[in-house]
Amino acid sequence: MAAPETCDLIIRNACVLTVNSQRTIYPSGAVAVRGHTIAAVGSEAKILGAWRASRVIDAEGAIVHPGFIDAHLHVNAQTCRGFFRGDASKGSSGGPSYADWKAALSAEDEQAATALACVEMLRHGITAFVEPGSAFEPDAVAAATQAVGVRCSLADPYLWDDMELMKSIPGLISPSLARRVPLDRDRCLKLLGSQLHRNRDKDGITHGHVALYGEGTASDELLRAAKALADRDGVVLNSHIGYDLDLAQAMEKRWGKSRFIYLAELGVLGRNVTFVHMNLIREDEVATVLETGVSSVWCPFAYASRGTVLRQPTRLPEMKRKGMPVALGTDSARQSSAGDAGFLAFVMSAEVGHTLAAEEVLEMQTLGGARAAGLDAMIGSIEPGKRADIVVRSARLAELGPGVDPAHQLISVGHGATADTVVVNGQIVMRGGRPTLVDEGAVIATAHASATSIAGRLNLKPPGMWPRAA
Ligand SMILES: [Zn+2]
Repeated sequence: MAAPETCDLIIRNACVLTVNSQRTIYPSGAVAVRGHTIAAVGSEAKILGAWRASRVIDAEGAIVHPGFIDAHLHVNAQTCRGFFRGDASKGSSGGPSYADWKAALSAEDEQAATALACVEMLRHGITAFVEPGSAFEPDAVAAATQAVGVRCSLADPYLWDDMELMKSIPGLISPSLARRVPLDRDRCLKLLGSQLHRNRDKDGITHGHVALYGEGTASDELLRAAKALADRDGVVLNSHIGYDLDLAQAMEKRWGKSRFIYLAELGVLGRNVTFVHMNLIREDEVATVLETGVSSVWCPFAYASRGTVLRQPTRLPEMKRKGMPVALGTDSARQSSAGDAGFLAFVMSAEVGHTLAAEEVLEMQTLGGARAAGLDAMIGSIEPGKRADIVVRSARLAELGPGVDPAHQLISVGHGATADTVVVNGQIVMRGGRPTLVDEGAVIATAHASATSIAGRLNLKPPGMWPRAA
């Protein structure tokens, strides 16, 4: 027998969900990690026979899975929780709106919100997220993600140049936000691609993509320029479309045809295009959507919280079964945690008559997310050669027992903050449910101070129903 090879880390005594092309599960499995990369995965006997590591983690029989990917997270909204309830797109009746809150964020505020979100994500087994071009200071977001050790992809802030249709969602635009990120084509064309320099570091955890705000706020010229740049640099073009049904219909009226047909004719659809929400897909668009290979990110909380199902039940569970790559996203975590999307998708798919199996939800959170982020060659499964973004769930929590059906148990019951150990890019960034690179208490305290400071600047009070005693 050949002498064992050396590696940096072995995770053993694990129930490994690989999500590889055969979806292999190793009930008594192990993973070997060398540097940033997964060196091997297989049965424990095989891995321990072939590899020696300087560090060995005993998973105590727990579920080990590829890090989940939140394919759509407005990460700087994490600190506005408690200040805005209900449907933010409607705007507020007097007083600062959600858009005003965004416009008031400093770089320090964005850093504080991002650090809070990153710690929360790790606890829920999320190792990567896509920030869809809504952070004003991407450097601040990058600094926080690197400090906590979470992978992310960033884009240029608020590329939009046409506000005609935004009347349907007045709460998402305000004079203060329009002043901060003006609807100006020259600004957008100059800024376009400013985050792609992050991809030069091939071993890093911070990536760049191209994003337009979307929802009808981009001119044809801006759409074409963004797609051409995404093609040139081999990254995704990410954009909202179909969050609001009235706005979707207004787009159809303006374009004189179904939206995805129009975009296909414009030449801006393709495998490297990711659309967020897609709450409206007309029958005449299904073939185009499937043929062009676009990805979708379903944000089940945003879909459900606005009562969308009453007018337009989502087709995304059905579209996934037809072969469309579908990922999951949180959108903004104003009223949910970063780990809720999988469970919500699992439940809501039943409501629209296409009940997803736990395995299908897991595919959305791993391979689907990686594809939507344009990082599918790098992450999304536990396979040799991919980056070591790996989650070890706890072996000691009731909600992860009795552990006879790991995929189902993970999605239906154990989907909360049940991660024990998290590895990102080969580095252990959470151990025993606590982040290893930052002080969790300090992250929470800084986020609290930031939220209090922004509210003070805006003269904003939490809208709770009950009186607060002095
Ligand atoms: Zn969004």
